[in-house]
Amino acid sequence: QAKKCGTTTHKVFNAEMHQKAISNLQLETDLRLAVHRKKFILHYQPVVCLQNDRIIGAEALIRWMHPEKGQIPPERFISITEETNLIVPLGMWVIQEACSQLANWQQQTKNPFLNSLELEINLSIKQLAQPDLIEQIEQVILETGIQRQKLKLEITESIFMERVETSQSALDKLKDRGLELILDDFGTGYSSLEYLQKLPISTLKIDRSFVMDLEQNTHNHKIVQATINLAHTLGLKIIAEGIETTEQLDILKQLGCDYGQGYLFSKPVAVNTLEEIIETFNQKTS
Ligand code: C2E
Ligand code: MG
Ligand code: MG
Ligand code: MG
Repeated sequence: QAKKCGTTTHKVFNAEMHQKAISNLQLETDLRLAVHRKKFILHYQPVVCLQNDRIIGAEALIRWMHPEKGQIPPERFISITEETNLIVPLGMWVIQEACSQLANWQQQTKNPFLNSLELEINLSIKQLAQPDLIEQIEQVILETGIQRQKLKLEITESIFMERVETSQSALDKLKDRGLELILDDFGTGYSSLEYLQKLPISTLKIDRSFVMDLEQNTHNHKIVQATINLAHTLGLKIIAEGIETTEQLDILKQLGCDYGQGYLFSKPVAVNTLEEIIETFNQKTS
């Protein structure tokens, strides 16, 4: 019986795998071309300070503009770019694009909201493994003329922790260059307390899966509470991602969470929409 089950699952798995392999191969071909032709845009999701309800920054999130398939979300293609190392040139494009946007905001000296914005960029572990990453980022900072203390780099906890030995020195170097680091999707990996203390990070970003049902789920409520306290005990700031309801927001505020992101405030949007949102949102609280 068990064997029969196993065989059946195996067949279904194979058919799916086959389909997936074909469509991934097609995507990979399209991706190579897209990276070459820069067929991507960055959307920006506001980051809100929960103490004063102001948008203090944004996270840059990549979108692929596919000629036939339309806009493709990163879940569908980031892993392929990582497997093929296309993430290295693509990630460099993200850094360049994000930094020139940040420079644009910083130059708007008459707009206090825009010129003080922080910008978060997601970095892949593959990028961290590039020996020339630091020099390349330095180059972009120089060319765009940005104030580097506004630039924050996010590393996903779960992936990072699998390669912590090899990646830590890259993080140390980034920190030495005055760049702030955020541990993304916190709670999905296996960070030991020892590493949290050792890593040159300034902020934990608690994963959306813990925030999602915060109102009903007492288990997640306890985890979020403990995580916020842990962060603060270690002298770190904490961001909650995926806030969708006012109830979730109220709980997070009550628990002393520093910053928040989520559809409640805004989905990731194009840059001009972000600027409009900041204008109306921050007017209300000023
Ligand atoms: P992430 O860095 O954890 O980004 C948060 C994701 O959650 C984003 O998905 C965002 O749109 C989504 N999100 C934000 N608020 C809410 C909410 O209230 N509800 C729900 N349901 N979702 C929310 P997105 O943009 O599809 O990005 C997915 C992931 O792809 C990112 O997760 C990040 O790991 C990766 N990614 C995106 N852009 C880049 C990039 O430029 N470079 C690299 N290496 N990875 C990227
Ligand atoms: Mg992120
Ligand atoms: Mg995240
Ligand atoms: Mg996440």
